[in-house]
Amino acid sequence: MKITIFGTGYVGLVAAACLADAGHQVMCVDAIKSKIEDLKSGKIPFYEPGLDILVSRNIMQERLIFTFDAAAGVKHGRILFISVGTPATEDGTADVRHVLDVAQLIGEHMDDYKVVVVKSTVPVGTTHNVRSKIDEALHRRGCPDLPFGVCSNPEFLKEGSAVQDFTKSARIVLGTDSERVREFMCECYAPYIRKLDKIIFMDILSAELTKYAANAMLSAKISFINEIANLAERLGADVEQVRKGIGSDPRIGYEFIYPGCGYGGSCFPKDLRALIRTAEQVKHEPALFRAVEEVNNRQKRVLFEKLRKALGENLSGKTIAVWGLAFKPNTSDMREAPSRMLLEALWKAGAHVQAYDPAAIKEAEYIYGKRDDFRLVNTREAAVTAADALVICTEWQEFRAVDLEWLRSQLSQSVVVDGRNLFDPHEMKQAGFRYYAVGRGENC
Ligand code: NAD
Repeated sequence: MKITIFGTGYVGLVAAACLADAGHQVMCVDAIKSKIEDLKSGKIPFYEPGLDILVSRNIMQERLIFTFDAAAGVKHGRILFISVGTPATEDGTADVRHVLDVAQLIGEHMDDYKVVVVKSTVPVGTTHNVRSKIDEALHRRGCPDLPFGVCSNPEFLKEGSAVQDFTKSARIVLGTDSERVREFMCECYAPYIRKLDKIIFMDILSAELTKYAANAMLSAKISFINEIANLAERLGADVEQVRKGIGSDPRIGYEFIYPGCGYGGSCFPKDLRALIRTAEQVKHEPALFRAVEEVNNRQKRVLFEKLRKALGENLSGKTIAVWGLAFKPNTSDMREAPSRMLLEALWKAGAHVQAYDPAAIKEAEYIYGKRDDFRLVNTREAAVTAADALVICTEWQEFRAVDLEWLRSQLSQSVVVDGRNLFDPHEMKQAGFRYYAVGRGENC
């Protein structure tokens, strides 16, 4: 089947590579020419495990092609996926300009039946606006009867395990009001539903809301456990034991109840804010969503506060080692990462930072440029050399097993602030550290 994907970001490129690998003929269109040139030679602008192999293999087998020519993209696919970015505007509303731009292009260039699929995360009602935009363009061209169908197909993949999530997703949500669209979408996803039919059909508005509901629920779980962690800290309880105690209840489960220094990334913060704006627009007070956001914003500040408690109010001239810059492991993405709030607070306080991340060094360089108070290094060892304290922001696998004696010899103040609860507080104490985790250990 011929498929075109507009937008070659995390979602578009993963979907394109996976669909091509399943045998479809996939064309990718992006608005950035240099990105397309890089992709043609198999160069991927971000780190995502397994994606490079998939992209190279399918370029070689000529099932995956890249173009800057949007008209060619519209002509190529029977199914046209829109997976462009929907960044937040200043007030938090999702900006759907790029989605509607692509809809306009589709209306201007289509010449036979198309299924237009909105995969970007968009406010409820946007897919209907996509339909109107295409209709208007067809009217302007004088061919209002050219047939097309629309579908909302929100994406649930996670950065860091995106390929696995796309090919083995728990469900495929399809919002449509057309039987013909259903048939084409079943053909598109047929390779993934052989064992189990995971497609959930619904109306368009419900499909759009399902995506926001999923991200709001997951954000709420994280803020919930962080709130319990803050309580545990003050009550002398250990949140890690509480986590096990509640996670064992199948109604609650273990997923997404890890206490830490807050959630970040390109989705949870943006999508929760957009949902809050949507609620406001229909005159509903989103009390729970506001609380989830507020708890998260507060949580992102705990690392800096703990560090100040450990080292004293004046951090000027101190050297702080930071392990992990990405918002989570297995990605280079630093959008809204807790590390960013820490770095910026440390610089404001006059501290120097030595940071290491297995994948996000280039991204950090791109965001912050060259600064005298910021040294990016290539190993975890170099980051802690001659530092006063260590802060862990991301739970990369390589930070879990550490020679504690060696680590203590590197840190002049023996302070470790662990935003991901990687170590045992008793072992850390025995090894001579002042160890500050989240919701356990020292009462700080
Ligand atoms: P991204 O910013 O990584 O990529 C978006 C791409 O769209 C960019 O390459 C950009 O150049 C391109 N683009 C913009 N306008 C275009 C146009 N008119 N024509 C062609 N290309 C255009 O974004 P992303 O992370 O892939 O997210 C895309 C959408 O999917 C967003 O709505 C996001 O909320 C949603 N989503 C993201 C994730 C994730 O983990 N990143 C997961 C699920 C859903």
